[in-house]
Formats: sequence, C-alpha cells, structure tokens
Amino acid sequence: MTEQELKALETACPLVSTLAAAEEAVWVNPERVPFAQANGGLPLTMADVDDAEARLARFAPFIMQCFPETKAAGGLIESSLTEVPRLRDRLNQRCGSAITGRLLLKQDSHLAIAGSVKARGGIYEVLKHTEDLALETGILTGTEDDYTKLASPQAREMFRRYTIQVGSTGNLGLSIGIMSAAVGYQVIVHMSADAKQWKKDLLRSHGVTVMEYESDYSEAVKQGRASSDANPMSYFVDDENSTALFLGYAVAAKRLVGQLKEKNIPVDAQHPLFVYIPCGVGGAPGGVTFGLKQLFGDHVHVFFVEPTQAPCMLLGMATGKQNQISVQDIGLTGLTHADGLAVGRASGFVGRVMMPLLSGAFTIQDAKLYDYMRDLLETEKIFIEPSACAAMEGVVKLTQAPETIGYLRDNGLTEHMENASHILWATGGSLVPEEIREEYIHTHLE
Ligand SMILES: *Cc1c(COP(=O)(O)O)cnc(C)c1O
Repeated sequence: MTEQELKALETACPLVSTLAAAEEAVWVNPERVPFAQANGGLPLTMADVDDAEARLARFAPFIMQCFPETKAAGGLIESSLTEVPRLRDRLNQRCGSAITGRLLLKQDSHLAIAGSVKARGGIYEVLKHTEDLALETGILTGTEDDYTKLASPQAREMFRRYTIQVGSTGNLGLSIGIMSAAVGYQVIVHMSADAKQWKKDLLRSHGVTVMEYESDYSEAVKQGRASSDANPMSYFVDDENSTALFLGYAVAAKRLVGQLKEKNIPVDAQHPLFVYIPCGVGGAPGGVTFGLKQLFGDHVHVFFVEPTQAPCMLLGMATGKQNQISVQDIGLTGLTHADGLAVGRASGFVGRVMMPLLSGAFTIQDAKLYDYMRDLLETEKIFIEPSACAAMEGVVKLTQAPETIGYLRDNGLTEHMENASHILWATGGSLVPEEIREEYIHTHLE
C-alpha cells in the first residue's frame, strides 16, 4: 500500500491510524444488527451446528478408544467452566477496572488431546474427513455403524494411504497432527516462523512430518495448500475458509448452555453474558461466536482481542476490506509473543459472518499478556499460555474505555452490569512444557 493509499484509508476509517501506530485500540462494531435480523443472511444455520454435534457423538466410542483420557467424559472433548472471583478482584485492584457480576474462565486451555481451542475445530474436521472416507470405502456401512471399527487394523491400513496437511502457527498443527496420526494418516504440518520449537518436537514424536518456514502464517498455509494440491491422496485443512473447522468450534456453545444452567447462571435481558475471545485468523473465535449467537441471541455480547502488531480481524472488519488487507499493508510487523494470534491476514469468510454479529474488538500490547498470565496463576493457580491471556484485556477495558461504556449505555446494559456474567475464553496452555512455563513466568517486557 502506498503512503497515499494509507492516508486515504485513515481518512475513511480513523481507527486505522491507531492500529498502524501499534497503539491499543477499542472498536465497537457499527454493523452489528439485532440477531433476528442477522440470522437470515448467514451462510450457516443452527442445523449445521446440530449436525456437527451429532457427528462428534458418533465418534465418541472411537475417541475413547484412541485417547483413554477421554473415557471419564464419555469420549467427548469438553472443557470446564470455572468461576474465578479472585482473578476478578485482582484485575479490579491492579488494572483499575470495575468488573461486576461473575467472572468465569472457559478452560479450553485444558481440552484433551491438543490442550487448546483447536481440539474443537481441528479434531472435528479430521473426524469428518475420516467419516467421509470410511463411508466411501465401505469401512463403515452407514452412520449407525459401530465407529470403533475405525480403529481396526484394516481401517488403519486404508487410512495410511491418505495424507492430511495443514498450515499452522502451532496449535492447529498440534490438534490436526495428533488426531490424524491417531487415525493412521500420513500427516504433514507446515509451520510458520512463529511456531514454538516444543510444538514441533511434540508433533515429530507423534510421527508427524513438520515443514518449517522462515515466513509467516499466510505463507505456511500457501505452501501447505500447494503441497496438498500436488497429491491426489492428500486432504488440506484450510484454516482460512473451512466451514468444518468453524462448525467444530461452534459446538462449544451448545455445551456451554448446560454448563451455565448447572451453575444457575441465567442469560437474558436482565442478565447479559459477555464473552472475550483471543483472535488469530478468526476460525476459532468466529465459530464459537456463531454458536453463542444462535443460542443466546442479543443477550450475548462477544468481543475479540488481538495483539497490537497483528490485529488482522479488526483491520479487515473495521475497513470492510476483510481478507483484502493485511497488517503488513499498514506497516505493522505481524510479530508478537502471542504465537497463536500471529496472523497478518484474517479469514474473509469469518469476517463476513461476524459483521452483523460481533459486538467489538480490542487490541493488546504483548507485555500485558504476561502480567495477566501471572494474575491468573497467582490468584487461581491456573496456567494458560500468553496468547490465551489476551481475553482478559476485554473484560478489563469494557467498563473503562469510552467506546465500550457507550456500547453498554446504548444497549441498555449499564443498569444490568451487577447481574452480568463475563466469560474469558482461555484458548490454550495445558501442553506447554514446564521449563517454558517457567520462562514465561519470568518474562517482563517493556
Ligand atoms: C489458534 C488460537 C487462537 C485463535 O484462533 P483462530 O482460529 O486462529 O482465530 C487463540 N488462542 C490460541 C491459544 C490459539 O492457539
């Protein structure tokens, strides 16, 4: 983008100046509309989410067989919803926020198999492809068949002839790689420069081929897609456009309904629900948001959080350019300690679906991620990775930034904040090795 083009963009959308300066930004989405109005125009429906949930249920016996740690949950990969009142008090005290109501942590950081939110979408897409292949080749006679057949030697021999490939900053590769290797596929994960060494090592220990690139996430995806297209026996998991990934994430919302009921947490006009989700390319937060809006409509308010150096979704949505613009176009590096969020160009598919649904977005400086990480660890004894800590910026800023204070007022929420519930979507962390945790705990950035 030329200097002149950037100037014109900043005039049309003043927020771009804040983003280009890598300053923390707060954005309230002016295109959001009442859910009833938005829903008719969306490319996916609740029936699609129900279908994904049913598919996961069909695979539960197989999952239990491959991953005995899922036995207690009946083969469902689900995380707990945990109330974190001491974290709320700490944030109010240390950050000057005024969080009222209940603060909860959705611990996707502790999801079985992949230790991140990617255990939802990534594993779902591998299973969906597996079901398609198994039905096609007659390993399964129908969706009523016994899915533990998929673990038989004959089935594994068949799956070995196929390859799965994916581009990743780390966690998606872990999820796709571990699940695909468990089914029996050949797997190639194309890792961007941001990917952590321990994630590559862990994948290789599962027999996964890891290709490393000096370039960013978009380039890793491009390489992966080209490599997969060249092999007729290969399937490419396309994080930028996949509806399967998106629907796998969306199932989280259905499960959350029961968890909120269990905790006697109502969600209605007098009891608003606020959800804060770290965003990279958009698939995970977008899918979860889509599901939440289907189930809670206008009573749920979802905000994304991105690093100041990689605000790709905010940039795409606020300018309306979606995936036609990258953070590098406005002079940012795309480099961040939040490896899971190190994405320069958002998914156009997700951005368009989010336009009428998303409440807004925040950006956060890397240094704060580590402070929030220590806040949670010290007050609640829960470790989550720095990328996941971005969520905390949302709840801290909500009642402090003029933009979101305006949002609360304009939507008649101010008087209900005592009854509000806030969910921090903790997107990853349980697989981080002990020595890396120690390193994070002692990281202090300017
Ligand atoms: C992948 C990831 C996200 C964001 O998901 P996207 O689909 O890339 O937007 C957030 N947090 C962590 C820890 C992740 O690994």
